[in-house]
Parts: sequence; structure tokens; C-alpha cells
Amino acid sequence: MPPQNPVLILGAGVNGACTARELILNGVPVWIVDKFDIAYGATAKSSRLIHGGLRYLEYGDTALVHESLDERARLLKLAPQFVKAVKLYIPIRQRFGGLLSAGLKFTRLTRTGLGAAAAKALGGERGLETVRMGLRMYDFLSRGGGLPSHSVVRVGEAGPKVDSNKYRWLAAYYDAQMLWPERFTLAVLEDARREAEQKGLEFKVLTHHHARLVDGTVEIRPTDASNDSPAGLTIKPSTIVNATGAWGDHTLRDLPAPTKRLFGGTKGSHIFTHQPALVRALNSEAVYAEADDGRLVFILPFEDSVLIGTTDERFDSTPDQAVSSEEEVAYLVEMVNEVFPDVKLMVADVDAHYSGVRPLPYQAEGTTGSIPRGHWIESTATDGIPIDTLIGGKLTTCRALGEETANRILTRLFVARSVSTQERPVPGSDGLSQDTALNDQFWQSVAAATGFEIETVMACGKLVGSRVREVLGGLTESAERELVAGTRFPRGFVRHIIETEWVEELGDLVERRLMLTDHRALPEVTLRELASFFPDADTEASVRDVGQRLRKYYGVTVERELAAAVS
Ligand SMILES: Cc1cc2nc3c(=O)[nH]c(=O)nc-3n(C[C@H](O)[C@H](O)[C@H](O)COP(=O)(O)OP(=O)(O)OC[C@H]3O[C@@H](n4cnc5c(N)ncnc54)[C@H](O)[C@@H]3O)c2cc1C
Repeated sequence: MPPQNPVLILGAGVNGACTARELILNGVPVWIVDKFDIAYGATAKSSRLIHGGLRYLEYGDTALVHESLDERARLLKLAPQFVKAVKLYIPIRQRFGGLLSAGLKFTRLTRTGLGAAAAKALGGERGLETVRMGLRMYDFLSRGGGLPSHSVVRVGEAGPKVDSNKYRWLAAYYDAQMLWPERFTLAVLEDARREAEQKGLEFKVLTHHHARLVDGTVEIRPTDASNDSPAGLTIKPSTIVNATGAWGDHTLRDLPAPTKRLFGGTKGSHIFTHQPALVRALNSEAVYAEADDGRLVFILPFEDSVLIGTTDERFDSTPDQAVSSEEEVAYLVEMVNEVFPDVKLMVADVDAHYSGVRPLPYQAEGTTGSIPRGHWIESTATDGIPIDTLIGGKLTTCRALGEETANRILTRLFVARSVSTQERPVPGSDGLSQDTALNDQFWQSVAAATGFEIETVMACGKLVGSRVREVLGGLTESAERELVAGTRFPRGFVRHIIETEWVEELGDLVERRLMLTDHRALPEVTLRELASFFPDADTEASVRDVGQRLRKYYGVTVERELAAAVS
């Protein structure tokens, strides 16, 4: 094959990463550039569900549901270190109801102003028969996916302890959770890197950089570079992939490669709580409930805490400005109390929160819920360079979108596809499966082989999967085996992450590598020790900046007195 100019992918979220992997596997060199950091956007701000999207059935999006369920089955098999099955319960009050508004949605009338108003006026909470109909279709579409079919129980007989005065039935079905999409994205990039090394292909990952197109050449400079900084790197890409999610229109404008408005993202916020009564009531299972205002809420188990989401509001600022508002937090708390009044959740029980913007297509009218949730590739060209902009897309369908994008580029470059990812495991999956008992044996064997405590092995294993065996096994010096204060991470493990995972600054490490953002507080001693891994940075400034970011974007405080473990 003749040498190719690299494909330039803008945006290292899950879709950019999956596209990069597809191209590298098929012999095409790639540069991937992110203005902020890997998985900085919606990838890190989602509900973390790997789901068919039961709700989309109402909108007649059966093709999307089918594709999503296929991808769910693949992820359960190919990335078991990150993706686990979860049982969800839908609490139901009445036998009938919801059919008329479901009909309006199914016929897509809610995508017009009038249809949306009619659906709202009709209201109509979904009754048992409507839910059953949807779940039967869901079972049918997910046949062969390896998860059990739906079932219905009376409230109180089984499942989470929802309000028995309000609800009569619980309809149960299965989907999956990916607790750490950021880590999944890194594993996909790791796969691309390994493969590029083997094939001798160029593969460059540049974070905290941005690109500008000047006369057919793209100049790439650090995001914080001033106009009089020295020239950056230059590249003549064969294609530009705009995988910048909800930033997509801004990216095209700044490149510049203007086009019509493509994106109309909606903001969604989530909260975490460790409130014991809710943790007990949920009992490690999940609830997908319809609130009194008709919105749907997920109440999900998340390690030893509970994750609740989400809101859905139109949002016109740049996605990095999205922050959970006090109203959103209060609204999510209220939604929980509607389902579980006995737990009496308070805003003060909320440990952390986050907010992100869905990269949805622009739709001037209709409800936010009616905006299509599929994915598209919009192809344009500027200065003779093809630009493929990825619109929409879910975490669940990232592999399929990466595959589709790569197919379009491979065709354009006259490169025949030689490798498929349809059966390709994600690095760190070998030795792990959906069998918890077998996984426990695996973690025990790593603990025995490396001499680390099982809690340390599992804390590191949740980030790198079975690669933990090599990483911890390579730590022989006692200084490298010491744990970072307040965490379960050995210093050598943290060093490995910094050296191999494109970490540029303390915030990258805390937010998107070690995942230290779901607890109420982070010990200052932890932050300071992590800052010491960046000898060239101003420690005081980075500790202060990260502390401010944690407070603003996650509601997490940095506390001097705290010494408890956070991982
Ligand atoms: C609230 C919410 C809940 C969701 N829940 C689910 C769910 O449960 N299940 C599911 O399957 N999906 C869910 N999604 C959808 C899913 O998260 C996204 O569709 C998916 O993560 C999009 O990935 P992406 O790579 O396209 O975009 P992003 O993850 O947003 O990545 C875009 C990247 O581009 C970078 N960037 C921005 N500007 C530039 C620039 N000029 N140059 C270079 N880089 C740039 C950003 O830093 C970022 O890293 C949810 C989304 C949200 C917001």
C-alpha cells in the first residue's frame, strides 16, 4: 500500500478514539488532537449505560435500538473489565396508560411543535401494558445478546424498595453499565498505539492542543499558546475527522471550515450520593422511573454509591461551560424522593455532581426528548481536504460509529478493509468475564503473584483491567510499591499511568485517569502527592487550579483534615 498522509482526528472522546483504532488497524496513519484532554467531553459526563435505549422504541427508532443492542452484546464480551450487566426495574402505577402519547412519538409527530404540545397535553404515564409491549419488543431485538428476558413482579415481592403506596408493579429488564468510559477510551487508544507500533505506522496523540487550517495545511499548537508563540507542528492530512462532539460547530468555525449549523446539544446533569438509606433501598440494582412531570430518571448503583440522572435542557454555550445548576441538583433529589419517599434524600446528601452536553443534531422545534439519538456523518471539504463531522452517537455505539467513519475514509483512500473490530477484545480484558466468581479468582491470583493487597489490585484493576498483572508485577522497588496517601494506588502504578497515558497535567490525572471525582472530598495530602509527580509544574498553582475545578464542575472539595482512602 502506498504511504498515506495521516488522517487528522480532532477530539479524543470515545468516538475519536474508536475511529483512530479502526484506521490504524487498517494501515492508515493517524494524528489525534484534543483541545483539552482524552475523554474530556460527553464521554466522561454520560449516564454510563450501555443500553439499547428502551425509550427510543417509542420514537420508532428500532434500527438504533437494534444496533445498540448488538453493540451492548459485543461490549459485554469484548470489554468485561469495564462493562457489566445491570438489572433495571421500572416502577408502574396503573395497568393502562401512555399509549396515545407513545403513538404520537412513534409516528414522530413530537418532532413538530404541535405534536410535542399534544403529547404533553395528553400526558399519560406509561401503564403496565404499554411497558410490557415495549419490553417484549426489546427482548425480541436483543435475542441472542446473552441477557435474560424481562419479567414483572408485584412491588414488595422483589427488587428495590420503591414506594408501595404509589406503585403496584415492577417490570424488570437488563442492560449494562460502563462505570469508567474514560478508562475504556484510554484502552481503545492503547490498542491503536500497540498496533501502530507493530505495523510501524505513525500514531500521534496530542492533548491540550488545537488545530488551524491555513491554505491546505493544518497547524497544531498548544491550546494555551499565544499568537506570538513559535510555530507549532504542521500536517497535510488526507482527511480531517471532526469528532469534537457537541463542540462540533465551534470546531468548524475556528478551523475555519464553516458550514450550516449541525449541532443542537442538550445539557444533562447527574448526582452521586452515598446516602445509606438509598443505597440499601436500591440493593445494587437499578431503577428507571417516570417522574410526575413525565421525565425519565435513572437511579443506578455505582460501586458503593448511587448515580442519579439526568436532566435534558437545551444548551447553547460551549460544552466546557456546562455545570450542574442548583435547580438541577434539587430536581434530581426530588425525583429520587418521588420513587423512594422513605429514604428522604436531601440536597446535603449529594456528594458530587457533573454535567455534560449531548452531541445531538440541530432541531429547531419539538421537545428535547424527541431529538433523534442516532448518529450521522456529515461530509464537507475545505481547501480540498475532506472533513467528516460525527453527529450524535452514544457511548454504546462508539465502535459502530468508528467503523462507519473509517469505512467512509478507507473508501475515499482506496484502502481495502483488512481488519474488523467486531470480535476484537479491548486491551485488559483477557482473563476477565461477566462471571464475578471467576473475576474474583483472577484478582486473588494477581494479589498472590504481586504481593499487593486484594483491595489495591482491585482498585488498580478497575482502571486497567487484567493489565494490572503486568503493571503491579513490574513494581519491585519499595518506594514504587508505597501507596499514594489517601488512595489504593501504588506510586509506581501512578507513574506508569502518567508515562503511558498521555497525561499532561495534574487535572488529567485526577479527573480522567485515576477517577477521583465521585466522592464528596479529596484529601489535600493526596492532591499534593499527586502534584509531586509533575516536577516541572508550579505545585501550588496546580493544586489550587485543580481544587477550583473539582469544586466547580464536580462539587468536590479538597480537604486538609481528611486522610481517608478515596479509591
Ligand atoms: C448527560 C449525558 C448522558 C448520556 N448518557 C449516555 C448513556 O447512558 N449511554 C450512552 O450510550 N450514551 C450516553 N450519552 C451519549 C455519549 O456520552 C456521547 O454521545 C459520546 O460520549 C460522545 O462521544 P464523542 O467522542 O463524540 O464526544 P465527546 O466525548 O464530547 O468528545 C469530544 C472531544 O473533543 C474535544 N474537543 C473539543 N473541541 C475541540 C477542538 N476544537 N479540537 C480538538 N478537540 C476538541 C473535547 O475536549 C472532547 O474530548 C450521554 C451523554 C450525555 C451528555
